[in-house]
Amino acid sequence: MARYTGPQCRLCRAEGTKLFLKGERCYSDKCAISKKRQAPGKAMRMRVGKKSDYAVQLREKQKMKRIYCLLEKQFKNTFFKATKLPGKTGENLFMLLERRLDNVVYRMRFACSRKQARQLVSHGHVLVNGKRVNIPSYLLKPNDRVEISEKGKKLLSVKESLKEYTRSGVAPWLEVNPDAMVGTFKAIPRRSDLTDMMDIKEQLIVELYSK
Ligand code: SF4
Repeated sequence: MARYTGPQCRLCRAEGTKLFLKGERCYSDKCAISKKRQAPGKAMRMRVGKKSDYAVQLREKQKMKRIYCLLEKQFKNTFFKATKLPGKTGENLFMLLERRLDNVVYRMRFACSRKQARQLVSHGHVLVNGKRVNIPSYLLKPNDRVEISEKGKKLLSVKESLKEYTRSGVAPWLEVNPDAMVGTFKAIPRRSDLTDMMDIKEQLIVELYSK
């Protein structure tokens, strides 16, 4: 399947915001967007002012799609699944994306980015309730147990990522035992729980796809 293989930071620059695609670097002074935020350019401000409604909606969709590392077709399919669920479509979209196995592996700090988490899953290093699952889009249910395989536990990248657990822990809807490399998806988060996604205006994405 076609996948973006260019520089990750370029995607953030295109959206003018941090998409957190490169793990630890995203929290450091090396992040290109952090540097820019300290000194916003005049040209950038002028460009923002000229955007049409459509352009704003499109950018919001691109932003969310890139944060969760999905291709257009995967993102659109998830959106249409969200429209069929009861409740607000935008919130359902978030809930479906948050339940993805690759996202949970990332949030449990077993990988330093969603891209790396997806690789870990598709290479067969992740078990769900004791069974190997190599489908990154697999949707978890509350109380599902996520575990790194014996082979995966030896990977340096997993050990390195877990250092982030020591620094900042995990989201409240997850529980992780970093020594055993096991976690529990305790509950589906609510929209208000996703404090790192407050910048995303999902209603704009609903408007875009409703045209
Ligand atoms: Fe690069 Fe991460 Fe900063 Fe984005 S947030 S520009 S991926 S370092």
